[in-house]
Order: sequence, then structure tokens, then C-alpha cells
Amino acid sequence: MAAQYEKRVLTMDAWVQKQGYPPFCEVVTQEDGLANLQLIVDKVRGKEVPRVPAVSAFIEFCVGMMTGEVEKGGCRELRADPQLYATAGYGLSQAEMMMPLEKKGTFGWGPYKDAPYKLQSIQQYATALRVWLKEELRRWPDAGVANPMYDGWVASVMNYVQKELPFARMEERLPPALTTGVFNEVISHIDPTSQDEMSTALYLQAGSIHGDRAHDWYLSDRENLRRLAPTVEDPDQKHGVMISHESTKNNKLREERHKGLACPSWCEQEVAFTAAGQLDVTKMCASCMTKHMQDMVDQSLSGATEETLESLPMFVEIKEIVDLPAGSNLVR
Ligand SMILES: [Zn+2]
Repeated sequence: MAAQYEKRVLTMDAWVQKQGYPPFCEVVTQEDGLANLQLIVDKVRGKEVPRVPAVSAFIEFCVGMMTGEVEKGGCRELRADPQLYATAGYGLSQAEMMMPLEKKGTFGWGPYKDAPYKLQSIQQYATALRVWLKEELRRWPDAGVANPMYDGWVASVMNYVQKELPFARMEERLPPALTTGVFNEVISHIDPTSQDEMSTALYLQAGSIHGDRAHDWYLSDRENLRRLAPTVEDPDQKHGVMISHESTKNNKLREERHKGLACPSWCEQEVAFTAAGQLDVTKMCASCMTKHMQDMVDQSLSGATEETLESLPMFVEIKEIVDLPAGSNLVR
């Protein structure tokens, strides 16, 4: 059997049978040798009537998934059947290969065997059953049998499940957040003479502090970055920088959006270097890195007017023009 949703239906059928419900589906081998899942048909007063699962059977199955009574990885007895599940190999059944008893977790088998079913999984079972029943019931258009998955009780139970269960996103499955320790490692290893490495480190750190994008920084000019320090008029002003992002992908109107990057209490508000010539992360912060970047540009443009400097992009690579062929008019 190929279709994933057929396997889900079969798993539910096997589980509800253990709770005392009659089976409602069976695997039928077709002429072409392929197996497919069909509804069991009863004869009622000489008429063919497809047998559908009871609404309460699905509800019990739902509750079983929530409480952990329905084991993850499917029904072990079914997976032991080579007629239903292609044999995994080495003469072992899928149950023996994929669901070895010694590897069973709190909630069954598989990579998340120790965590209960998530909302998404339960919804996948409900969808599989609803769609499969809908398709099967098309074969008996005149039998007058309704799809139990459209019953109001099913909708109520699914609402309840949605309220009770968390979404599939789980803290431990997310990639780790960048921590200060990791940043400090990055900054203490970058080449302080490389604008590329400096700007990358700055994107990382500023981005983690207030969600700036590299894109925001890339389009900023030097005049968009203003250094802040306490003054006589404003002695409460903290050290740091004020960045004005005007052009971003999510700021179509190009409104000025000011974001402050303050020096933390331990920062000495100066670019500091270690004896080895690396940036000293114990004495300076991301805000101070912006000063270092500007100093680098200033040095390579010594002699430029303040006005020229202000009009430059924040990050700029400067090269001396040498051997310019006569007639060149496109210089970047
Ligand atoms: Zn600082």
C-alpha cells in the first residue's frame, strides 16, 4: 500500500478494533497485484451498504492520540504483516526492523518517540480519514451513507484538540539561538582590518539585539548613523549609536525608523584591541564597532571633506585608482 493516508486510516481501524469497534476497512488486492484500502460492505436486506466508522470511534482515537494510548509509528501488528507493508529486508518484518521493542519510547517509535502527538499529526489523521471516506463513499452514491467525519461532534472534538495541544513548533527542535558567548567568539576572531568581516559581525550582533536586517544596514549612509554620548544639556543620554534605517524591504514608504544601539554598562565606549591585535570583546560592544568601521573608511579617505564622508554609504571599500586607461569614464 502506497498512500500515506491509507496507512493512517488502517492504523486507526486497527486501534479502534482493540477498543471493541468492528473493523470498517480491508485491504483488497486488485487484478494488477497492487493492494488498496476499501470500505467493508454489509448486505442489508439484499442491498450493499458500505460500513463507515462510528463517530465515537474517531473521537476515542483522537483522545487516544492526545493521551498517548495510540502509539506512534503505527500499529505494530499491521506492520508485521508483509502483505500490507513491504518487508524491510534481512528476512525481518517492518515491525521488527522499524519498531523493535527494545527501542520503544514513551509514546511509541520514531524520531519523536518520547514526545506526545502534536496538533498537526492529529489533524493529519482526521484529514486522511475524511478524504479517504469521501472518495470511497463515491462508489455508493445511492446508499445514503453519510461521511461521519462531517458530523458536528467531529468538528467540536477537533476544536477542543486545537485548544488543548500546542502547535508543532517545539523549543528543542528549533535551531539554537545565537548567544552572547557565540557572538563574542565571532568578534574576537574576526580580522579587524577587514570591512567584510567587520560588517558581518555587526549585522549579526545588531540583528540579534533589535532584529535589524543586513539589508537595512547595507542601504544606510554614514549620516544615518549618529553617535550618542551624554552632554551638558542631556547628561542622562547613554553612550551608543542611533541608526536611522530608511530603506528596507518591509518599509516601503521609507519612513525614518530610528533604532538605538546602546553601550552596555561594561563597555568602555572605545574601540579596544587585545595584545594579539583582535577586537577586545570584554571592553567594547557592537555600538563601538560602528565607530571602528567609520574610522577604517576615514583612514582610507584621509583628506576628504566632512561633507564627502557624510554622503558615503556606511560600508564602502576604497581602492586607489592605478593605471587608469585613457578615456575611462566608468569608475566605481
Ligand atoms: Zn559600546
